[in-house]
Amino acid sequence: MSRAPAASIVLSFADARRVVEQQAALIHASCIHTGETESVDLLAAAGRVLSERVTADLDLPPFPRSTRDGYAVRSADLSSLPATLEVIGEIKAGETLDRIPANIAGGEAASIMTGAPVPAGADAVVMVEYTSPPHHPGEEHRVEITRRVAPGENIVPRGAEAREGATLLDRGFRLNPAAIALAASVGKSRLRVFKRPRVAVLTTGDEIVDVDATPGPTQIRNSNTFSLAGQIQQAGGEPVLLPIAPDELHRLRLFIAEGLKSDLLLLSGGVSMGRYDLVEQALSEMHAEFFFTGVKIQPGRPVVFGKCATHEKPATYFFGLPGNPVSTMVTFELFARPILEALTGQSPHNLLFLHARLRKEIRTKTGLQRFLPAILSGEFDQAEVELVPWQGSGDIAATARANCYIVIPPDRDCLAAGQWVAVMLR
Ligand code: AMP
Ligand code: MG
Repeated sequence: MSRAPAASIVLSFADARRVVEQQAALIHASCIHTGETESVDLLAAAGRVLSERVTADLDLPPFPRSTRDGYAVRSADLSSLPATLEVIGEIKAGETLDRIPANIAGGEAASIMTGAPVPAGADAVVMVEYTSPPHHPGEEHRVEITRRVAPGENIVPRGAEAREGATLLDRGFRLNPAAIALAASVGKSRLRVFKRPRVAVLTTGDEIVDVDATPGPTQIRNSNTFSLAGQIQQAGGEPVLLPIAPDELHRLRLFIAEGLKSDLLLLSGGVSMGRYDLVEQALSEMHAEFFFTGVKIQPGRPVVFGKCATHEKPATYFFGLPGNPVSTMVTFELFARPILEALTGQSPHNLLFLHARLRKEIRTKTGLQRFLPAILSGEFDQAEVELVPWQGSGDIAATARANCYIVIPPDRDCLAAGQWVAVMLR
């Protein structure tokens, strides 16, 4: 059996990320112009990527809004305290215009509620906590104020959050709950979003059996399809599950051809150095172009990235993800996710890292950038992180307990307890 003819291209983590980010930028630029779109109800818009701009239909807020319950006043009236002002009206949230005093003159105040419009003449709101009711009968129309306010205090001026016509959310923005609330606030009950890209998942391996099968003594149930399907959905794609492919070139090529019909193809397994690791060879025979065939990371070193033309399409991007379950998950996060996000129309962004104190020393070898399953705990400034004990990159049970990865640079062989380390959430 001949080995894969593709020349091996092994990159550092930083170089591999750069390659992925460059391709993601190209994909995003074309998607934002030509990507297919659909209209969705606001309630179904979470996680979708905007293909239209959302603009303010009115000034936000549409009137000067009181942010407190209290009294609308002229701040200059409070130069000496306590100050007694004449109360000329009460303004509740939603008050009709004809019931709002036309003007607050010197010596006057209006009782006002949170969310109500501040009348002309007033330039600040005193919180009700700093006022007292009248002391004597017959003084019901007066209020005593015991604290000064600066001009503008407790008022959001009309249009301070956004001017009518201003862009609030741009194309390529992935909708989070706050963005959906913002769309609601400007009357968008439906939004135009990019269609979800279809991501084919092709698991390979003669030993892999379906989740419902009872594995023979040397067989393993397919778990990677399921972690990948979850990750694809989280990243905004729609998984398309292909059958399990055997370690045999002809059938592998047929399944790969099927997978290349989707917007992105993710293969799991068959990219290591074994005699039956045939994914690269199958792709080479299909005239794929390879950006890299390995990255100096652990787990996930044999990860493959490329693109392949078919009769129907000029190019479909693919990843050959190593079959070890933790490797599959890590390499998806590091390399496949940015490409998938670009295909969703989402604007590119960098990987995000946090820092936390290491609970227990880590000893390792230099040469590879490592992303090791770990548990981040502790509140506020007490964030601590420690490795999950694991049996290597096949240990799904360990990684299921983890909530992050500790990131170890390739030039470090020891991280001392108590030092700050980079952490990637997942
Ligand atoms: P490979 O990358 O094909 O050399 O596989 C590496 C290891 O991952 C082997 O122990 C495989 O049995 C295991 N593996 C491969 N594919 C899967 C899968 N879909 N689900 C669970 N384990 C897998
Ligand atoms: Mg295999």
